[in-house]
Amino acid sequence: MPKLEIDLSHSLIDALQAERRLTGETVEHIVSRALADSLQVEHATLFQVSTAGALVEGVSGEIISIKSLKEHGDFGLGTFAGFDGEMAVLDGHFYQIRGDGTIGEAADDIKVPFAVVTHFVPQAPFDLEPFSSLSDLEDQLDRHRSSDNRFYAVRIDGTFQSIKTRAVCKQPVGESLSDAADAQAMFDFTDVTGTMMGFWTPPYAKTMNVAGWHIHFLSDDRTKGGHLLDCAARGGAAGIETLSDFRVAIPETAAFLKADLGGDPTAALDKAERDPG
Ligand SMILES: [Zn+2]
Repeated sequence: MPKLEIDLSHSLIDALQAERRLTGETVEHIVSRALADSLQVEHATLFQVSTAGALVEGVSGEIISIKSLKEHGDFGLGTFAGFDGEMAVLDGHFYQIRGDGTIGEAADDIKVPFAVVTHFVPQAPFDLEPFSSLSDLEDQLDRHRSSDNRFYAVRIDGTFQSIKTRAVCKQPVGESLSDAADAQAMFDFTDVTGTMMGFWTPPYAKTMNVAGWHIHFLSDDRTKGGHLLDCAARGGAAGIETLSDFRVAIPETAAFLKADLGGDPTAALDKAERDPG
């Protein structure tokens, strides 16, 4: 990330430190927020394309280009047309993790059916205690959320003793997420250094994204990754950002316009997105 070094008056520094003590936010976050407000740039905004409920109904065709997504975020997750793998977005790079285990950077003109991105600036970084499972990790992350009813982004960097991921495999467009999950590939990695990128979606938004934590993983050497099913580590460096705006790009494709999105996708998402054991 680019760095900014400037001279500030004592009164501004004092006010900045007072705000930092009051909110617990980092100076970077406070300054980024103020600059974004003043320059009318998106900040703490979650930008999402389509909905998880639409994926469940098989709306998995081409909707938005990677180039367009890059305007709205440098961090996030998603999937590719026809469920051709998992998307991991890190430091402005959009990676495609395919069911055959290969990982590559997606070209700008590739169009995808579902993605969730943000310009990530952690508010108050913290160190994780050791954790032995994904639910263990989620319990720790939960302690850094002040509400069930807001959206949050989380980034975790570290060396993980074990990581279990999956990557969906390419399906004919129109097949549902459940069909894709039935054909998913699962991967077990040990002692791998990398980054987790994820989001907390409030229960009331359960048709938008997987309710609760939804996390993807990518190794530092960009050879291992996927949708996170389980993990263990002796610690890690975490950062959470509270997202105060939620923008949804509603697809205009015939498949989306005609899909029946009135149902509750929770059961199908649970089956597709949690560890089958
Ligand atoms: Zn996922």
